[in-house]
Amino acid sequence: MLIKFQNSYLSLPSHFYQLVLPTPVKKPEMAIFNHALAKTLGLNETELTQPENVGYFSGNLIPDQATPLAQAYAGHQFGHFTMLGDGRAILLGEHIDPQGSRFDIQLKGPGQTPYSRRGDGRAALGPMLREYIISEAMHALGIPTTRSLAVVTTGEPVYRETPLPGAILTRVASSHLRVGTFQYAAGVQKPDGLKIIADYTIQRHYPELANSENPYLSFLSAVIDRQSKLIAQWMHVGFIHGVMNTDNMSIAGETIDYGPCAFMDTYHPETVFSSIDRHGRYAYANQPKIAQWNLARFSETLLPLLNENTDSALALAKEQIDRFPAQFMKHWLAGMRLKLGLSNEESGDSELANQLLSLMAEKNTDYTNTMRALSSTSLPDDAFFKSEEFTHWNKAWLERLARQPGDLTSARQLMNQNNPVVIPRNHLVEEALGSATENGDYSKTKKLVEILLNPFEETNENTSYREPPAPSDQVYQTFCGT
Ligand code: AMP
Ligand code: MG
Repeated sequence: MLIKFQNSYLSLPSHFYQLVLPTPVKKPEMAIFNHALAKTLGLNETELTQPENVGYFSGNLIPDQATPLAQAYAGHQFGHFTMLGDGRAILLGEHIDPQGSRFDIQLKGPGQTPYSRRGDGRAALGPMLREYIISEAMHALGIPTTRSLAVVTTGEPVYRETPLPGAILTRVASSHLRVGTFQYAAGVQKPDGLKIIADYTIQRHYPELANSENPYLSFLSAVIDRQSKLIAQWMHVGFIHGVMNTDNMSIAGETIDYGPCAFMDTYHPETVFSSIDRHGRYAYANQPKIAQWNLARFSETLLPLLNENTDSALALAKEQIDRFPAQFMKHWLAGMRLKLGLSNEESGDSELANQLLSLMAEKNTDYTNTMRALSSTSLPDDAFFKSEEFTHWNKAWLERLARQPGDLTSARQLMNQNNPVVIPRNHLVEEALGSATENGDYSKTKKLVEILLNPFEETNENTSYREPPAPSDQVYQTFCGT
């Protein structure tokens, strides 16, 4: 395969990973391949998509320079600490793109690893296509995320409640270093392991901090900044991750591990889709709080590096974690201003945004379409926009717009660049996955991805993709598919 793999992870102490080979599958076949991503990575897509090379995406063939490994990590799952590790993922190695950026190339679903516990190490086609669709949609929305290079079917069933077609996803990530990697390092207490992984991560993701006065404190602060921005971006588009366990929080600040994630149709802060999130721990509006909780767990792992005096280290960590709400609010408000077409700052902006959101929750309106409709020259002729409460809000908003420099046209432009017309709506995702898993027909999946790649432009082609689900098509629950 024309990927010149490196594997800097092998430079870490050996307890951070275990070498393991993928288990070959019966009949690998390409379901979907990401040509655009292959191009930006500088990969030879013609060669990669030759039928004889499909085995590279299933683990049947191993590229010459790859040294496949499974990473060790731990994590708080729904608040409970567990030792985990890549139970169904194998890192082939790292690829350097033409811009010099390093990316992990990982197979998800390639068979058992030493960390599989009782799992089969496999993945089903539906959830792998789901990750492909949603991660590519997130990327097109401008939200940091892992990417999806390919999904191949295995020709083998995986057994969940029922037999399902098996598949393997090739995932591309800035890295798979997570909060859980640090929890693992802090927990196993092998000499120097924590410092080594921290130095490695700083070199890889925050090299500019290496020479700061207290690099580990700057590192903690920088991770908080990236995560607070990321979560704000999720909130702006109505994304609900669904499993914000600490092992699913990337140190590089990318959205990672798409399971039962989903986008809200109707706006409501308490929205939960995941079937396993029974108490709404990871509900839409809880995401910032959970991120802060996860980052607190991260900061605890760094204590020995922050200061040799434990009390001083704790004080430093606490100070950083306490910054999160304000950091998050800063990013959230900046994004909401853009969504409302506000080009400057006024103290009442946060209230203005929140008032609109409360109205949307009260009146059960579609989040994406309501936000987008605000920039149209004539507001939709429906009950929400005709309501007394909205009319009142609208007046205050128009007055606010009138107080800023620039005209309505430029405000509308700003709004159109920040309020998508299309998001991966659940009912469309489910429909595409259904036709792929039941009939081996990927045309709906491919079309959906193509539409989602251009989220901010209203086109004739995306008309039907903008519609909220009919009541009978509404999806209330999503599943991990593990
Ligand atoms: P996730 O909820 O997908 O982040 O997975 C949590 C943990 O369970 C990770 O350590 C996974 O590697 C592991 N896991 C999930 N599904 C499987 C499976 N089918 N076989 C083995 N390990 C799995
Ligand atoms: Mg995970």
